Amino acid sequence: MSFSPYLLKGQKALVTGGSSGIGESVARYLAASGASVVVNYHSEAEEAHKIVDDIKSAGGEAIAILANVSKEDDVKAMFSQMFEDFGTIDILVNNAGLQKDSAFVDMSLDHWNIVIGVNLTGQFLCAREAAKEFLRRGVQPHISSAAGKIICMSSVHQVIPWAGHVNYATSKGGIDMMMRSIAQELAPHKIRVNSIAPGAIKTPINKAAWDTPEAEAKLLTLIPAKRVGDVEDIAKAAVWLASDDSDYVNGATLFVDGGMTLYPGFATGG
Ligand code: NAD
Repeated sequence: MSFSPYLLKGQKALVTGGSSGIGESVARYLAASGASVVVNYHSEAEEAHKIVDDIKSAGGEAIAILANVSKEDDVKAMFSQMFEDFGTIDILVNNAGLQKDSAFVDMSLDHWNIVIGVNLTGQFLCAREAAKEFLRRGVQPHISSAAGKIICMSSVHQVIPWAGHVNYATSKGGIDMMMRSIAQELAPHKIRVNSIAPGAIKTPINKAAWDTPEAEAKLLTLIPAKRVGDVEDIAKAAVWLASDDSDYVNGATLFVDGGMTLYPGFATGG
């Protein structure tokens, strides 16, 4: 990691779904940049505590908090615990997400509701609690020029339709409009709200798409950069969006996708 441990010094960050994949890497990079980090987890207690131990061993500050982000009571309890331990919040990374895939006509209401509940409602619930605290506390100029930063983990599927994944693509399209509406509403209070839209990143969520040479070769036909992304590609973008280096960036989606949204099928004509 090549980050300055002073970039986010004194800032308190919460990463939802921080126990694996992109969330884990974001938590580690925020901590390496000087932030105190809450690693939220849902089912992977051991993994979350290992990440916390690693951060502490490297001289950082971190705690793990259990919460299902789709449950209002869990989210409120998580923020209360964070405020008890860290005093406040400066950076929220709304990362938790999941897939429940099926053909559209076979999609159960249960799978629709679970995906919308975690991916979209979960981001709403966490953003609302963070925003309340940003508004209460306001800007602390010695900490950051913003009163707070929210980073929503979206996906290239906020713009690319995705057959067989209607619930997931809908949740990510919803994140885009939610993120921009919150950004518009809270910008006058010096609160910045942005999204990262990852392309294909190697994590447990999409293992089947890259863990055999055949699957990876097929996936690469969709990626002009001709490599599947790593979690660090996303974590570095998150650190930048969390820092004052991106102070004039608000309501934006940063696509970190190796060009996946460049209509690669048209590269050889159209
Ligand atoms: P992942 O499965 O490793 O991580 C998802 C995390 O969310 C896990 O830690 C999981 O425990 C957590 N989670 C699930 N339900 C939860 C709940 N109810 N409450 C709290 N946490 C919960 O996969 P990932 O790829 O790291 O995904 C992270 C985010 O990135 C997701 O929002 C995903 O949609 C997005 N994303 C990933 C890719 C990719 O290619 N990997 C691409 C685009 C977007």
